[in-house]
Amino acid sequence: QQDFQELKFKTLKHFWGYDSFRDSQESIIDSVINEKDTLVLLPTGAGKSLCYQLPALLKEGTCLIISPLLALMKDQVNQLKSKGVEAEYLSSELDEYDAESIYDRCKDGLTKMLYVSPERLTNKQFLQNIEEIQLSFIAVDEAHCISEWGQDFRPSYQNIKDFRHNHPKIPCLALTATATSKVLEEIKLKLELKNPQVFQKSFRRENIRIFTEEISDKFQRIFDILKFTNESGIIYVRTRKEAEQLAEFLRKNQLNNVDFFHAGLTTKEKNTKQSIWNNSDNNVLISTNAFGMGIDKDNVRFVIHYSPAPSIENFYQEIGRSGRDGKESFTFLLWNKQEILNFDQILKNQIPNKTEFLKIINYLYSIFQVAEFELPEKVFQLNVAGIQNFTKLSNAKIKNVLTFLHNQEIIYFNENKSLSSLQLL
Ligand code: ADP
Ligand code: MG
Repeated sequence: QQDFQELKFKTLKHFWGYDSFRDSQESIIDSVINEKDTLVLLPTGAGKSLCYQLPALLKEGTCLIISPLLALMKDQVNQLKSKGVEAEYLSSELDEYDAESIYDRCKDGLTKMLYVSPERLTNKQFLQNIEEIQLSFIAVDEAHCISEWGQDFRPSYQNIKDFRHNHPKIPCLALTATATSKVLEEIKLKLELKNPQVFQKSFRRENIRIFTEEISDKFQRIFDILKFTNESGIIYVRTRKEAEQLAEFLRKNQLNNVDFFHAGLTTKEKNTKQSIWNNSDNNVLISTNAFGMGIDKDNVRFVIHYSPAPSIENFYQEIGRSGRDGKESFTFLLWNKQEILNFDQILKNQIPNKTEFLKIINYLYSIFQVAEFELPEKVFQLNVAGIQNFTKLSNAKIKNVLTFLHNQEIIYFNENKSLSSLQLL
């Protein structure tokens, strides 16, 4: 036991160069070492990666890490390799020979961490090879991607459940920065975490100062802010066009350290832009919400919202990308009256009133022909298109009512099937 305590710290020092763990990192690592299912909810930048990387080194076998983005995997594997840690990722970019040699090194217990996308969990070749690999534990990064109701929903995260079924003895560590209890419950349920140890920390970020400002000439205001900062930051805009136009405006005004980023770019362009930004001390990226998940850059000194984010969750996540090094950082939210009015409209479109609520309930009654809505046992598939037809309500409202009923355990969704119907939304 004593030796093990020492080993933990020695490993931390040797590979990462750190002298101490942060907050709950150590207890999380202990939980994983002790083969418990573990659920970790820590804000972005808290240091979740270490919570699986370090135990992966200490445990026998290979840790399987499920990660939503190839860029993230590459980044982490490169970082680990630069520390002298044997880690690999699988992707369709690798040729067969490379993949084979990765599998071989895992089988020999040499590779301690294997990163894969959730899609790969159904790949035949992968499944065959994995049978010959001793898995230490499964780490599910960005675990909220399994939640149907979150904005990062990835249907392929459902694959994890089957994989878990076929490997019942392998413990699972789920990590996310999403704080809502709804999403948490869904993670526990869908990953089938057994009596998980849950680690949750206050989501307060003391070093981020938040400013909001009502302003009409936003381009000019942003220019003024940037003139006085020569530091790295992100400006979130709502549309691709805004991203491009703002970048152009700033460049015309001699701010040459700005660039734009959005989902319309080619992968190559995205990678180039992201890596320039990543490696700079004063680069500013103007982006739609295409840019974000898993950004691991310490010295982001500011985040500016050109308009309000679509939800508080988004806002929190996005401003959370500043100040990950713990140093003072600031965020600006620029808004105008029209945007707030639009928000009211968005809310009106999402939140059903009592009549609308009853309409949906009535429809469910008529379809399932039950006298009372007492169906916790009963699992059925919901046909959202049918409800839409019948009620003529917006999908957002229907979705909200269904979510509510689901959370009250009044109705259940028939797993994958209901997912696909809800996907139609
Ligand atoms: P998360 O996944 O929670 O968003 P990361 O795992 O990417 O966070 O870590 C964020 C930063 O914190 C990284 O640069 C990492 O090296 C650093 N970090 C993690 N653990 C420690 C520690 N114990 N001491 C100092 N820095 C740490
Ligand atoms: Mg992370």
